[in-house]
Order: sequence, then structure tokens, then C-alpha cells
Amino acid sequence: PKYTKAELHKIIDENDIKFLRLQFTDIFGILKNITVTTSKLDSVIEQGCMFDGSSIDGFARIEESDMMLIPDLDTFEIFPWSNPKGRTARFICDVYMPDGTPYDGCPRHILKRQLAKAKEMGYTMNVGPECEFFLFHKDEHNKATIETNDDGGYFDLAPLDMGGSARRDICLALEEMGFEIEASHHECAAGQHEIDFKYGDALKMADDVMTFKIVVKRIAQDHHRHATFMPKPIYGIAGSGMHINMSLCTEQGNAFCDKSDELGLSKEAYGFMAGILKHARGLSLLTNPIINSYKRLVPGFEAPCYIAWSAKNRSPLIRVPFARGAATRIEMRNPDPTANPYLAYAGALAAGLEGIRKGMTPPPPVNKNIYTLSEEEKKKHMIRRVPQNLFDAIGDFEEDGLMKEVLGEGAYEKYLKGKKHEWADYSTRVHEWELKHYLTKY
Ligand code: GLN
Ligand code: MG
Ligand code: MG
Ligand code: MG
Repeated sequence: PKYTKAELHKIIDENDIKFLRLQFTDIFGILKNITVTTSKLDSVIEQGCMFDGSSIDGFARIEESDMMLIPDLDTFEIFPWSNPKGRTARFICDVYMPDGTPYDGCPRHILKRQLAKAKEMGYTMNVGPECEFFLFHKDEHNKATIETNDDGGYFDLAPLDMGGSARRDICLALEEMGFEIEASHHECAAGQHEIDFKYGDALKMADDVMTFKIVVKRIAQDHHRHATFMPKPIYGIAGSGMHINMSLCTEQGNAFCDKSDELGLSKEAYGFMAGILKHARGLSLLTNPIINSYKRLVPGFEAPCYIAWSAKNRSPLIRVPFARGAATRIEMRNPDPTANPYLAYAGALAAGLEGIRKGMTPPPPVNKNIYTLSEEEKKKHMIRRVPQNLFDAIGDFEEDGLMKEVLGEGAYEKYLKGKKHEWADYSTRVHEWELKHYLTKY
């Protein structure tokens, strides 16, 4: 581990850390935490921390409500914004049942199980997420609005980019928490930003995405802004994605690169891609989990609508970025930042490994802009669309047998139940659009 117990005690004393947040993620990708005082450090490390999971979404039923959090000592970090007199640090935890068995609804376990399967085949998985988000104003009651006062666009600089100082402080806070920031820039839409951090081991990257989101929200708040990872907050302008760059490594290095191939890609890379394309629809409920996710996956905003791949353009679901050698990777472009990163990576990995195991090959690349292809051309290339809404995604998820295997029976049932409920609730309500179009017309 990164720190021994003795080292943790030392860091806690030296930094005057008074509180420990024990963080975990529910199956819907929401970060939860329980705070204890640092006097509990030894007992938390040795025995874990019991908590009542009955009121957490997707967690226990009343009759099995006691759960246990076991901290992962490698995840210790100090919150940079905490009061220097009595600071707060955190651990990311795994969730266990009181009898010590892993809790089946803990997303970390689900990803670890999939990573172990990759390991059996000789692979480790590297992930590089690209998270986009909006910074909006707050109103006089401190409520979030969807207004921005910056009219910046892709890669614009201040003073157009008013979010620049917030983004700068976000990057600094992330660095204090151990992130290595690769790049940060204004995105296409007004008020939209992206911060990319260095790729790494899939489990660490899923943890980092969870941390990233709270840091962004917290620092934005200090700047009187509201940060949102909602995929499509405003109709008619770009939405926010979370592209996932993925590669597999063996002891020899990057398993996706093969200099002898025309595109520099190995058989594994093609197999992995084929598996993802095959399961793309089934995976959608994990990569694009909310109603609003599907309002981003429409033509014209650099978000993919079609299940295809290309090394040349950005309209398909998978792009192969130009970099080769150790940086050889595939970029899955449909996921959005509301995805539970543990489940999205686990699902994508399972699909990719299936492709490798079965020696699958992807269809030929589509190097034209798919948005502009005619329906016939799309038919000819057998290009399928991603699900158009959460309802379709639920159906595709249920039809794809691999998804149940990835999540495990318990988590699968809970996840599906939650998503069906979300759709039922949404689809029976009367929306603003309907009133605008129907109220006076009929
Ligand atoms: N915002 C776009 C999306 O929704 C991506 C734009 C980009 O990164 N070039 O995926
Ligand atoms: Mg990017
Ligand atoms: Mg981007
Ligand atoms: Mg990208």
C-alpha cells in the first residue's frame, strides 16, 4: 500500500487532520460518505466502519441494512479546501456485508471482478477519461441557473473565457489531491469546460472521476458558480461527454499497438473494438444512464449517434486517436459524465475482452462524417444507431446477456429497477414542450 498505518498517523498529526471521510459510490454513481474523527483511524482500518445502508439508493433492504465500509489505504488524500485548523481527509472504501463478504451492489467490487478477469488473460486496463462540464451562474437565492456570462468557444482564452479562473483553481485543487493534469480548456459551448488528467489503472481512474466531480463542484461554488455534469443542460448547443480512452497492457507493454499493421493496431485492439461495437447498445444504460443522456446523443454536436469506428473522424462511437506506441488506445465517445465510472469501465472491459477471446474483427472503418450519410448508405454499411432514449436503452440492456454477468444478479436487478422507475416517472409527466405545442392548438 501507499501508506502504512504508522505513516498515516504521522501525516494526520503533522497536518492537524481531525476528520476522516469514508467515501463510497452507490450503483447509480452517486458519491456518499460518512465522517468519523481521526481518533477512529485504527478501528476503521482494522474493523471497518459499520453503517446503515437501508436508505441509500440501490443498497440494502431494511432487513439487511447493516453494511461495512473498509477503507482502501491507497486512496488517502487531504481535502485542500478544509480548514487548516482541523483538516479533513478521505478514504475511498469498499462495501462489505457484516459477515465480511463483499456487498454485491458495490461498484468497486464489480470493476475489480472484471479487472481480475482481464488479469487472468494477462492484461491490465488503462483508462484516460475526458470529463466535460458546464459552469453556470447562481441566482440571488444561491440556486443554480443555466446562464453563463462567457461567450467562449473551443480553446478560447480569457477575457472571453470567464470560467478560466474557476478552472484554474479547480486544476490547482486537483493537483493538491495528487492528480496530474494533462490539459484543461474551454469547450465548444459557452460556459463549457474540459479538464483531462493523466491516464492510469482503471480502478484508480474510476476513483479519480468520483473525486474530480466533487472537486469541480466544490471549487465552482467558491467562485459563485454551479458546476454541472448533466449531459445536455441546454437544447441546441453542445452537451457534455466523458470520452473514455482505453488500452490494455501486458508485461511487454501496450497490447493495442502493432507496427506491422496498416493502422498500427494489434489483433487485440481490433478484437476489443469489435466487442465494444457489438455490445454498444447493451452498454448504453451504463455509459449513458439518465433520461437526459439521450438528448446529447443527437447529430451535430460531436457526440456519437452511430455505432461505428474510425481513425479519421469524430462522428462514430469509437475513434482511434493518432498517437501510437505506448499511447495507442481507442476512444469511446458515447459515455457521459453521469455514468457510474466503475460500471462503465467494467462493462466496456467485459465487452472488449469478449471480442479478444472470440477473435472478433470489427466492420470496416467509416471515415466519412456519418451525420451526412444518407439512410441508404447507413443501411449499406449496416450502421446501427445508439438507443434514442432511456426506454430503448433499458430494453437493449436487458437483451444483452453480458450485462447481467458484469453486474452480477443483485446489482443488475437493483440497477434495472431504478432505471425503469426513472423512465416511468419521466414518461408519465407532462412537460413544458407539450404545453407549448398542444395546449392552445388542440
Ligand atoms: N462535447 C462533445 C461530446 O458531447 C465532445 C466535443 C469534443 O471533445 N471535441 O461528446
Ligand atoms: Mg478532449
Ligand atoms: Mg472535449
Ligand atoms: Mg476526446
